[in-house]
Amino acid sequence: QAAKIEESDPAAKAVKYVHDASKLDEAKNAPYKKGSVCSNCALYAGKPADAWAPCAIVANKQVNGKGWCTAWNKKA
Ligand code: SF4
Repeated sequence: QAAKIEESDPAAKAVKYVHDASKLDEAKNAPYKKGSVCSNCALYAGKPADAWAPCAIVANKQVNGKGWCTAWNKKA
């Protein structure tokens, strides 16, 4: 199983990844929109209910389902 990503990881920093999107302010963290989280992102390689799942954007390390990054894309 892939390692959980650290926010300090360069791959995380490149896309401003955070473990907890609920702490983000839309006004200061564009293009963040309330309700966007890793678990409802197209790149979340797990079930929406999984607490952590791999993401290709951060070299397939695991991201938190409640996280977010600037590459967020709505799951189809
Ligand atoms: Fe989370 Fe999606 Fe960004 Fe991956 S691309 S870190 S699943 S928001």
